[in-house]
Amino acid sequence: MSNSLIVAKFGGTSVADFPAMSRCADIVLADSAIRLIAVSASSGVTNLLVDITRQTEVAARFEAYAGIEKITLAVLEKLQQPHAVAAEIETLLADLRNLIETGGAVYSGAHKDLIQSFGERLSSVLFAQVLRERGAKASAFDVRRVLRTDSRFGKGEPQVKEIAALADVHLKPLLADQLIVTQGFIGADVTGQTTTLGRGGSDYSAALLGEALQADIVQIWTDVVGIFTTDPRLTSEARCIPEISFDEAAEMATFGAKVLHPATLIPAMRRNIRVFVGSSREPEAGGTWIAKQVEHKPAYRAIALRKSQTLITVKSPEMLHAAGFLARVFDILSRHQISVDLVTTSEISVALTLDETPGSAFNQNIEPALVELRSFCEVTVEQGLSLVAVIGNQLHSSKGVTGDLFSALEKINMRLICHGASRHNLCFLVQEEQAAKVVKDLHQRLFN
Ligand code: ASP
Ligand code: MG
Repeated sequence: MSNSLIVAKFGGTSVADFPAMSRCADIVLADSAIRLIAVSASSGVTNLLVDITRQTEVAARFEAYAGIEKITLAVLEKLQQPHAVAAEIETLLADLRNLIETGGAVYSGAHKDLIQSFGERLSSVLFAQVLRERGAKASAFDVRRVLRTDSRFGKGEPQVKEIAALADVHLKPLLADQLIVTQGFIGADVTGQTTTLGRGGSDYSAALLGEALQADIVQIWTDVVGIFTTDPRLTSEARCIPEISFDEAAEMATFGAKVLHPATLIPAMRRNIRVFVGSSREPEAGGTWIAKQVEHKPAYRAIALRKSQTLITVKSPEMLHAAGFLARVFDILSRHQISVDLVTTSEISVALTLDETPGSAFNQNIEPALVELRSFCEVTVEQGLSLVAVIGNQLHSSKGVTGDLFSALEKINMRLICHGASRHNLCFLVQEEQAAKVVKDLHQRLFN
């Protein structure tokens, strides 16, 4: 057996059904370094579980439940020895039915997380059996024994030190002579209550487990062949990036590339663990390696696009004595908990885009913040903009970068360009209607 340790995570589409799980088994069995496997819920199951928690009527909850049961039993029926796990699966399904019947009209946060945990608990039991039927020694392991979080339901904060200590005692010894299949996405607080890391959190789980076990590699198997130079739906010329640095990948996540859960790279960076992203449908197609050191550091690595941006321009009427002006603007925004994405300033004005991600304070607090700003400034608000981010290396100092950009975008009206705040990105705003074409033209110019 190999001495190196790989943690492999399989996403929802990778474990959607029995044929998909079999492809994952091929990947696991082809590499003896893969010893810990973290799975997502089968595709669609977490959405159905969320649906259960949102419905107030038992009958409507059972409709969603029926979908989960169907997906689960379809896998069970394809196993050679379904009886080996049938009782365990039935116990899980019965527990879920019980939560539906006894839940009352509204579920608490703790109940919601408990209900959402069933998807990963079901898929991990099934996938362990798939591996056993392929001749491997494999067991399902309840990750809640090691993945300690605080008690914030819906978005538990992992307790890194405790996870490492618990993994040392409960998980590490098991890896010596068998494959362990565990759950992504879920954890438990100190009192043993089930928590979740937030939607899409399985990637993050795999990285946290990799960190705790000091793994060499974390593999994220999904349904895309790695990270692309831009969204392939925007241009057929988008291609897979073979290798990218942590810094560049983090910028991509910040600017909206949706391949990885944004927190995934944090544990990997702390421990310098290389991360691989590939497709379980086409493992032979290669994928993307994310690492601290990469061999090639091209000026241009990728282009990301984020839609629905609002640009706010605040202008001070007093040309002189503008010293306290910026501080005052930022103070107002911070008191309203509005966080700023991009900023450009001149002596008497500041233009900014604001974080509008769902869950941020933007929708609730923007109006009162504008009222305060208008009490001493001229404020204009422009909507319908998209943010284009060029990600790469030494963008602030490379010769020709601005020239490349301007010649690609000759006929485009750019609003606000941010250049030089980070070595790894260069951003600008364009009208939403032009955004797709801008990305396409820019991609052609920068990558061909
Ligand atoms: N099953 C969870 C979700 O759908 C976690 C994950 O797949 O990463 O959000
Ligand atoms: Mg996912």
